[in-house]
Amino acid sequence: MTGSIVILLGAPGAGKGTQAKRLCDSTGLVHVSTGDLFRENQSKGTPLGLEAKGYMEKGQLVPDDLVLRMLFDRVSRPDTRRGYVLDGFPRTEPQAEALTKALEAQGAAKPMVVQLDLDDDLIVERAAGRLICAACGHIQHLKFSPPKRAGVCDVCGGELRQRKDDQPDVVRERLAVYHRQTAPLVAYYERQGVLERVDGSLEPDDVFAQLVELVRPSLVRGEN
Ligand code: AMP
Repeated sequence: MTGSIVILLGAPGAGKGTQAKRLCDSTGLVHVSTGDLFRENQSKGTPLGLEAKGYMEKGQLVPDDLVLRMLFDRVSRPDTRRGYVLDGFPRTEPQAEALTKALEAQGAAKPMVVQLDLDDDLIVERAAGRLICAACGHIQHLKFSPPKRAGVCDVCGGELRQRKDDQPDVVRERLAVYHRQTAPLVAYYERQGVLERVDGSLEPDDVFAQLVELVRPSLVRGEN
């Protein structure tokens, strides 16, 4: 039996990573980001990281079999027993189907799915200013959460960098991929009766407040 599973859906740059981290800090759920796992694999130079690199730099999706192997390996670790927040997964219908089947096989409750809604124009603007700490993964933004010292992470003092795939042409490709392959998952989870929506254009604190309101009752009842 697994604990609560929350899936954050939304276009790249809609705020899933930031919100997932906050949600995990406040609930004790474990943050599972497939993008972070790929980036970790790349910085360690593993075969999986090398295989994923070309797709990521072009803004394309990594093939499902690689993603699924990595994801199931991660969520089978004991720290996820009380539940986890999925960020950036699933991104295709076969990924969603594989997750549904795996959860059913474990006798787990259905996940709770929250879609962060945000316009493409805002996403391109946000991605252009997004900075990620090379040391701890903390996310800042030139306009919305500017670093106290330019280029330096407020949390750990590490170096803040722009992700290669946050450059405007790559962001546009990632958005096209999102609309083609990932957006249909909204209808997939709607059909399962587990989809909630939050307005991702609000201030991050307001997005978080709405997210917690949706998620916390299910955690307390232990149903999700
Ligand atoms: P993210 O950090 O979630 O924006 O992911 C960065 C990149 O990693 C994506 O643009 C994809 O190339 C790859 N990636 C992450 N998660 C997945 C997934 N579930 N399926 C396929 N590719 C993924």
